[in-house]
Amino acid sequence: MLLSTRLQKLQPPATIAMTQKARELKQQGNDVISLSIGEPDFDTPDFVKEAAKKAIDENYSHYPPISGYPELKDAIVHKFKRDNNLDYKPSQIVVSTGAKQSIYNAFQVIIDEGDEVIIPIPYWVTYADIVELAGGKPVFVETSIENDFKASAEMIEKAITPKTKAIIYSSPCNPSGSVYNYDELKAIAKLVEKHDLIVISDEIYEHIVYGEKPVSIATFPEAYDRTVTINGLSKAYAMTGWRIGYIGAPQWIAKACDTLQSQVTSGANSIAQRAAITALNTDPSETHYMIEAFAKRRELMMNLAKEIPGFKVSEPKGAFYIFPDISELFGKTFHGVTINNSDDLANLILDKAFVATVPGSAFGIDNCLRFSYAASEENLTEAMRRIKELLS
Ligand code: PMP
Repeated sequence: MLLSTRLQKLQPPATIAMTQKARELKQQGNDVISLSIGEPDFDTPDFVKEAAKKAIDENYSHYPPISGYPELKDAIVHKFKRDNNLDYKPSQIVVSTGAKQSIYNAFQVIIDEGDEVIIPIPYWVTYADIVELAGGKPVFVETSIENDFKASAEMIEKAITPKTKAIIYSSPCNPSGSVYNYDELKAIAKLVEKHDLIVISDEIYEHIVYGEKPVSIATFPEAYDRTVTINGLSKAYAMTGWRIGYIGAPQWIAKACDTLQSQVTSGANSIAQRAAITALNTDPSETHYMIEAFAKRRELMMNLAKEIPGFKVSEPKGAFYIFPDISELFGKTFHGVTINNSDDLANLILDKAFVATVPGSAFGIDNCLRFSYAASEENLTEAMRRIKELLS
């Protein structure tokens, strides 16, 4: 008996593998600091929890509508207008079990066997796997710290072939924290129109930014009819476990996602959906205290990382990661371990300094290491002290 070929190729994300190894070391009694996790370290705000309790008492215990409660879709329509200046109708919205499922749905409904999807590197771990699960072929576009880890329209155009169907990116980017600006996205919008491509714009970190507000590519008329805007409540509202994500998309894509979902999940959790209505209808300033904390930690982490020999640090404009280039350390030996790639360094740092990070290889770029600063200032300071000592 054999697993399907599709599943034999599938591996759990490296972020989860690192978290697992860190947990094992902790169980053995080591003082492990985990900076590998991609979720806010805050609790879900009380006003959202209260809405969920009320939903339980009001017996929201039946199957919800497949693509989401009408009140939630209205809240999402309102949110898209308020935060992104995007006009969607409720029929263009589909609520799913996390943004991860929203992305999965989108590729399942647009990709045929052999279709190519352009993914700028570094990318969120799951994109390539989701494309492959749909029978598509990821085509990567390399970037580096020198161009702020962003792929320009010219770079993307070079990767386009007659088989290219779509492009996916996150802005703010996990792992680099880069944010595409207006001109960069305008150029990409023109490009996708010229080549008749679909854009999957992952905007899940939109509220966690430290400067200019990010632009949604669907605001450009060239891109609106071909963009699936992905978002969710995991990051902005510290609701990772509630599993609510959603799309705003052209109607034909939204309808297909609805049909797919009707055969797969029957819709997202009813209580979490009711809580999401309250979350999205609340002014985003209510959760600013999290962003203020992230902003302080970002400063702290950039300053501490700059002091570590061999770390080249760029300034993340959003999300809660720093992504230093560590390639200067390649070929060097610490505690008898020679560092040849990002996996070697991540393992050394975990084994000797008991700090969990994620190697850049997980995001397609071996020159870097990802540190999440969704952790206390005390833990961040101690983690970076240990790493500095280890590599000095
Ligand atoms: N996109 C990006 C860029 C992410 O970092 C994550 C979460 N790590 C997701 C999507 C998935 O979010 P959700 O919890 O809503 O599935």
